[in-house]
Amino acid sequence: MAGFDPFELADLEVLRMHFYLGYNNSCGELNDYWREFEFNRSAELRIAIASVKLFTDGGLCNAPAVSWEHPGTPIAAELQVSGTGDLYVTVAEVAAAVADVESRDGLTVIHAIGDAAILVALDGLEAGLAGGPNVNGHRIDHNVVVAPDLYSRYGEIGITPVVWGNFSSCRELDGRGWAAIMPADKLPWLRATPDLMAANPGLRVSFHSDVPSGWLDMFEQLWGIVTLRQREEETGRICEAPSWLEGHGVPVSTALEMMTVNAAHAMDLERDIGSIEVGKIADVIVISQNPLDQAGDELLDNSVEATLIDGAVVYCSPGNERWCDEVGSSDLGGELPATEETEVQGEAVPIVSVRASRVDPNFAIERVADGVSDSGGWVSGSGAPQWIELDLGAEVDVERLVLWVDQDPGGFTDHRVLGGLEPDPTDELARLSGDTDWGQRLEVEIGRTVRYLRVETVASPSWVAWLEILVISAE
Ligand SMILES: [Zn+2]
Repeated sequence: MAGFDPFELADLEVLRMHFYLGYNNSCGELNDYWREFEFNRSAELRIAIASVKLFTDGGLCNAPAVSWEHPGTPIAAELQVSGTGDLYVTVAEVAAAVADVESRDGLTVIHAIGDAAILVALDGLEAGLAGGPNVNGHRIDHNVVVAPDLYSRYGEIGITPVVWGNFSSCRELDGRGWAAIMPADKLPWLRATPDLMAANPGLRVSFHSDVPSGWLDMFEQLWGIVTLRQREEETGRICEAPSWLEGHGVPVSTALEMMTVNAAHAMDLERDIGSIEVGKIADVIVISQNPLDQAGDELLDNSVEATLIDGAVVYCSPGNERWCDEVGSSDLGGELPATEETEVQGEAVPIVSVRASRVDPNFAIERVADGVSDSGGWVSGSGAPQWIELDLGAEVDVERLVLWVDQDPGGFTDHRVLGGLEPDPTDELARLSGDTDWGQRLEVEIGRTVRYLRVETVASPSWVAWLEILVISAE
């Protein structure tokens, strides 16, 4: 984690990175280091330890676990697959891991590629959940070889399957793919996304890029899900999907859902990202073409014109500077909107220093007092009660406080405003109670001469946080 500090110091904490630590590693050896971390899946965090990943079979290291014997051919030997592959865990071990991770409020990302591994993953999840709903959202990633009799079990247990975008069609064409090591009658089990969806109405099938094991370009990924064609990175060669994948592509609209709302769902972040809705985090790209108007290879003809983070334009591609001009900010923060209804009346008093009962180290507390309401602020990283205290540096005749709510979910909150001439003020000057929600602006009358002001949140359904606090003097 410390390795990411330079990004934050350089104000480059632009990406949202949610890490999954290895419950075991890709060779199947158990790890323990993940127990030192608390899991956190708040989308507001730029960097979070979201939970753990459990490998049920080989892939990166060793071979996928399958229900047939890999052929003892030279190509199988070259691809390092033999026997029935490498199964790392039993059903009981998966069940124990799921219960273990659940007790720490985590979600288990289960790596399973071969059908034997997927069977163990599904049985283990079912046993681990013991008939209860999958509240934490344990999921299975990869799902490459799914036997048809397993399709409906995802829906029955409530497991989100996550699948790759591109299929490695070039390897198949070159005789180094699944067809070289798999019985011909089972080849249609590969990437049968439409069948998986048909067997589970309403099930959220998601996409993962799996970079660097997959491809980075999102438009290529979208094209890959739809066509199962692949563009070889080194040569640019376009490889047709093998005939046994006929009918395994999905419509563009479905692929877009897999890459956005369903992917957010798979990461347990759907509340905050994945679709455009009031109150969600506005991390958005503007693209040059509407994929819903495109078909087949046309999907490759697209590009990013602009990138918005937290609602502010942070990047415009060459030739598309108009996005930066229109929105008027290439700064991560952006200014307070100067429209009539949101303009703050009165003179803001400089805040000399800020401290709080608790500070999430992923957020710079000073930003709560930087005069910019949408650039992030103080996040306590914990539930109520929590307080934040402002030092005005001198005695000031304070007229009122203006506060921007950082709260998700919305709901009833109760805050006390305390003030005085000494730190740790105890005089209650005002009380703010009622239904509040993210981004809302609150104003509270003070009418007192103070140097220290403390906002103590007594009750909130969310982590205690403020986007911005302004102190207005009685000028
Ligand atoms: Zn994996």
